[in-house]
Amino acid sequence: LRRCLHTCLCDGKRYFQLCFSRKIRLRTMTKAILVLNAGSSSLKFSVFELTHSGALTLLAKGKIDGIGSTPHFTVKDQLGVSLAHEHWAADTLIDHAYCLREISTFLRQHYQGIDFIGAGHRVVHGGIKYAAPLLLNPGIIKELESLIPLAPLHQPHNLAAIRAVTALNPTLPQVACFDTAFHHGQETVAKLFGLPYAYFERGIRRYGFHGISYEYVSSLLKQQQPAVAAGKVVIAHLGNGASMCAVQDGKSVASSMSFTALDGLLMGTRSGNLDPGVVLYLLEHEGMDAKQIEVLLYAQSGLLGISGVSSDMRELLDSSAPLAQLAIDYFVHRISLELGALAASMNGLDALVFTAGIGENSAEIRRRVCLKAQWLGIQINQQANAAADICLSEQNSKTSVWLIPTDEELMIARHTCEQLGLPIAHRILN
Ligand code: AMP
Repeated sequence: LRRCLHTCLCDGKRYFQLCFSRKIRLRTMTKAILVLNAGSSSLKFSVFELTHSGALTLLAKGKIDGIGSTPHFTVKDQLGVSLAHEHWAADTLIDHAYCLREISTFLRQHYQGIDFIGAGHRVVHGGIKYAAPLLLNPGIIKELESLIPLAPLHQPHNLAAIRAVTALNPTLPQVACFDTAFHHGQETVAKLFGLPYAYFERGIRRYGFHGISYEYVSSLLKQQQPAVAAGKVVIAHLGNGASMCAVQDGKSVASSMSFTALDGLLMGTRSGNLDPGVVLYLLEHEGMDAKQIEVLLYAQSGLLGISGVSSDMRELLDSSAPLAQLAIDYFVHRISLELGALAASMNGLDALVFTAGIGENSAEIRRRVCLKAQWLGIQINQQANAAADICLSEQNSKTSVWLIPTDEELMIARHTCEQLGLPIAHRILN
């Protein structure tokens, strides 16, 4: 009898211990969304906690870059405190699957109580068909593979990241968010090239990119300045990749990027807009083949190609080399031309918004762009610009100027929650 009693008590105690520890575990289990942005030589990731109140809060942001050369892994927490900083040997053979395993190991070590409920991916091309974020399944992934020829430098890496997540966790729901989707509703004239119409029907048309960034910036503008957002706005996404978009009442009307992410503005290493006759000339008279021209246009041109110094705007602004200054002059010149064209596409302009690395951080580039846009009614307030305030224009400026930091990852996390049917707080800012 004593033995029986002892067993009951012990088992009971163990039972309560089990319940208690499980309760603690459940209570501390954090629901989170993993956001992945895979490029040709980098894999960026963010982890967002979905709180009980439905807010998305950043827990960690990191990247592995130098894939294929000298891989480098860095992670920071929401306050910008470094959590990991690791260089791998130059001959380390890594691919997206390897990177994802490293990220997964890191997350398990640092965030033990995390329950990943979904992964959101930036996918560059949604083609003619996909105009909104999508919950992925094998059939859709196959269709997205068929779009690789439209974005050969980006789409394969986006899909590699999706496959790597599937291999690691086959049951985790994954959502694709397309850079082209925001521009889907543009009128046909804004999507056309002057080629025979059959080419348009075959998908050779202006798609536009950076759509996730434009959608985020537009939503934030609507939240903070609804009257401005209801008007005619040009958003200048000036980063290493750069483009501009005319947005009227929150909808994309025209964009400087078109069939590929090469068109439009001068970029870090991409040429931007170019007479197609130049490509024919290079093929016929300079003995270059398609692959060589691709490398020239994507990797050796832009700020780097003109300056011969760097693709990094900070280095060019600090440089006294005449060609570095010429590269900056041409960068600003191209922005001014696109601004005029995009304003024309809306029959006017109420506001200009700067975003992305250069747009958010370089008061000098914003100043130069605004000075060239005085004819559009823009009066920049120099103090507000130097202080990187939200509103950069004078009170009496006919056209207002704004600085809104972009957050593509948060936009992807929001879409991922929506696709998974998870309620999220209405406000985009947490
Ligand atoms: P992103 O692609 O949005 O990360 O932007 C990268 C670009 O932003 C690079 O050309 C950087 O040189 C540029 N950038 C970042 N900070 C600054 C700064 N303080 N001044 C000028 N350019 C900057």
